[in-house]
Amino acid sequence: MNEHAIPKDFYSFETNTPFERCIECDKYLLNEGTEYIIEKAVKNYEGYPAKDTVFDYALCMECAERMRKEISKESWESMMRYFQENTDLMTRLEMQERLPEENLKSCMVKKTNIDDCREYQIYAHCNGNKLNMENPPYMISGEVMDELLPLLSDKTVDEMNGFMNKHFSPDPSIMEPVSPRILLV
Ligand SMILES: [Zn+2]
Repeated sequence: MNEHAIPKDFYSFETNTPFERCIECDKYLLNEGTEYIIEKAVKNYEGYPAKDTVFDYALCMECAERMRKEISKESWESMMRYFQENTDLMTRLEMQERLPEENLKSCMVKKTNIDDCREYQIYAHCNGNKLNMENPPYMISGEVMDELLPLLSDKTVDEMNGFMNKHFSPDPSIMEPVSPRILLV
């Protein structure tokens, strides 16, 4: 498996450097052998080059596992089934082989170009300062999030909102109502 450094797309919006700490337990992440995930949601403005990072965080595997257990089993299985049914094996294999940056250029499910997504989320599985390419980074468009949302139970949506409210205060400059955020733990 090729070794890849973490693309800058996954750097912390706040510091513009790699995430160093788990948002939940503050564990240091950049030692080799420490596995964690990074998730980031971004808004594009049509016709403008400006982008807004809606949220971004790094979560160590222990905390991610704990969150997964809080998400209802049905919701978790529905999300997994959605991704299985809507992505093909070739795409998944290709995503492991090509440069990670390539995976971020279009939606893994809908193939929409990143510039045409009003909103999108990117996800990476990391090990220290490298990517874990067994689970290659990907991007999903807002359209996919809209399709995932109805598959989740109310309890799961509450859990995800609870996580968001705990760590992120709503941005007062975003006047539109904030739709529930989907965690891809
Ligand atoms: Zn943690």
